[in-house]
Amino acid sequence: MDVKYIKGVGPIRAELLNKELGIRTVGDLLYHFPYRYIDRTEIHSIAQLMEDMPYVQLKGQIFDIVTEGEGRKKRLRASFSDGTGWIDLVWFNQIKSIEKGLKYDKNYLLLGKPVMWNGRFSIAHPDIEDADKVNAKDGTLQALYHTTDRMKKSALGSKQLQDIISSALDIGNISLEDFLPSQLVKQHELMSLDLAIRTLHRPTSAALLAKATNRMKFEELFLLQLQLLKTANANSKKNIGLKCERIGDYFYSFFYNYLPFSLTDAQKRVIREIRADMRGPYQMNRLLQGDVGSGKTIVALLTCLIAIDNGYQTTIMAPTEILAEQHYSLISPLVKGLEINVALLTGNVKGAKRKEILSQLKGGTLNILIGTHALIEPKVEFKNLGIAIIDEQHRFGVKQRAMLWSKNVCPPHILVMTATPIPRTLAMTVYGDLDVSIIDELPPGRQPVTTLHYHEMDRQKLFEGIHYQLSMGVQVYFVYPLIAESEKIDLKNLEEGYINLQEVFSEYKIGKVHGKMLPAEKDEVMNDFKNGNYQILVSTTVIEVGVNVPNAAVMVIENAERFGLSQLHQLRGRVGRGNLKSYCILMTKDKLSENTKRRIQVMTETTDGFIIAEEDMRLRGPGDIDGTQQSGLPINLKIAHLIKDVNIMEKARNAAKQILQADPQYNLSANSMLWKRLNEIKKDAVFSDIS
Ligand code: ADP
Ligand code: MG
Repeated sequence: MDVKYIKGVGPIRAELLNKELGIRTVGDLLYHFPYRYIDRTEIHSIAQLMEDMPYVQLKGQIFDIVTEGEGRKKRLRASFSDGTGWIDLVWFNQIKSIEKGLKYDKNYLLLGKPVMWNGRFSIAHPDIEDADKVNAKDGTLQALYHTTDRMKKSALGSKQLQDIISSALDIGNISLEDFLPSQLVKQHELMSLDLAIRTLHRPTSAALLAKATNRMKFEELFLLQLQLLKTANANSKKNIGLKCERIGDYFYSFFYNYLPFSLTDAQKRVIREIRADMRGPYQMNRLLQGDVGSGKTIVALLTCLIAIDNGYQTTIMAPTEILAEQHYSLISPLVKGLEINVALLTGNVKGAKRKEILSQLKGGTLNILIGTHALIEPKVEFKNLGIAIIDEQHRFGVKQRAMLWSKNVCPPHILVMTATPIPRTLAMTVYGDLDVSIIDELPPGRQPVTTLHYHEMDRQKLFEGIHYQLSMGVQVYFVYPLIAESEKIDLKNLEEGYINLQEVFSEYKIGKVHGKMLPAEKDEVMNDFKNGNYQILVSTTVIEVGVNVPNAAVMVIENAERFGLSQLHQLRGRVGRGNLKSYCILMTKDKLSENTKRRIQVMTETTDGFIIAEEDMRLRGPGDIDGTQQSGLPINLKIAHLIKDVNIMEKARNAAKQILQADPQYNLSANSMLWKRLNEIKKDAVFSDIS
């Protein structure tokens, strides 16, 4: 049924719902789940408010109502107090009707996100209700729905959406027949679809809500796994691999004569796993996980040598030019004595040089080609590509990986390397059916990075320490946050920081990189820093992944409270790369919330990427899903979280396997509604272009 027929919707709102949220049918509407719930019995006091609190509920009265500003800046402002302090309530739209509704002598219950503005908290467009009436309502959990700015401007906020969904639920004849096979529902003790949907929108108790949430997450992850496994089955038939049976001269010669250090046990184990794959009859699809600095590059090189020993060409693809160059400058001197032909191909390599590389590649005389995604272009033709290695995979999509597959008649082996520790089931979900190898050990003799927490009031002390380090010849990073929504302010912070540092450290040269620069400009600054032309590098997170400057042993992270834990960990991995004693200094403002204090504490206590990843999952709020990982999935996740719900995902994956085993032709009548539903919701086949 079209959503426009629901009471309170009509054609105009229907159009808006479609455009803003992709909601067309009543079914779509009911699958627009609340993103959180407010316990209506929990009331905050104004005196307790802190800047990084999410939605809060306040109970109090309005004392002063004024209209301010002219034209588009016109706003309605009311002073609100609960006896412990004052805040401002502000409205920018629908000013007249809101003003009419506000009363001075009433107890209000209001809901909104407090922000600090001119030294005072304010809440824009709060949900505001008569407190006495609210208390009379049954059910104390109130659902909050995501809406967009355009919807809010048309008075279609969370509250209105809730009313609309309520009307939809009250229509008797909409069918919420469960499409999950009843056997499955029983086996996993799932709530029925109808009850789960009703409970999610109108929870009557926290316990039922938890069951309902579990049911919908299971449903979503089950469909996801079903679709992934279906595709994997379809593909697995084709995956005959290029046999690499020989371990020969190149590998052994390098191993005994040129390897500059002995491998860690973890590196050895991983190489054995890779070798076993490559020797077999099937195509290798392996994910190599290893913390920053664990030595993945050398594993990549040894893997290449196995392929070269068997007469194949190899390629290593990195997400940025600087990383590709780094691999090149690490690998090419190492293999100098081996008579191996290594080349670097990035967007910067042009003209005759490029032509020559491409012709050597086609002729088969080029053994290792290192580069950026420029490698994927159809013009880049190999004679016989045996393995493609992709570094820092999370920057590449499934599509790009698929394009590498087609670089040989028989798909080459694939090794994907990433520093982001993720659970196994999640890895299989995000990257398809990859096997996983883990390097869980750092090379010996690594100086652990000392991580310190400084507050803004300690800045003088910080600068003194940095002066000392610089005078000893150590290079220093200053990292600033850059978060898309406040990009302009962040850039300004970075510029101001840069100017300030120039004053404080006037005798030193300071470079600056940020995401708004062209790749070539960035690389130039990075290279200058690497070559010691700059002593200080001011940057945004563009240095996050993989950059290696051993002499840069100190990193200051400004506004560290604004970074995620795994991001801080990645950043910190940039120091501690040489034999200098290394420091990572987390600068924060003086006053922090408990959650933030805990996050900073995790960073100062451990350098173990897996512990940090776990803490990260525990501390992050719901709805915080990694966009790039999401976009590669064949089904949009609305309620389940790839990381937090990994336990449910495990169950869902097993359940999906069972169904497929019992119904390999997708024609059992018990599953007919299931297959229909799967076809309805899957996105345009993401994996279909893998040949
Ligand atoms: P990542 O896994 O982050 O890509 P790299 O491959 O860049 O790490 O390795 C980090 C540094 O450690 C490099 O300078 C590399 O030469 C060195 N390295 C790698 N393996 C070992 C080892 N077994 N012993 C000593 N140093 C090693
Ligand atoms: Mg690396």
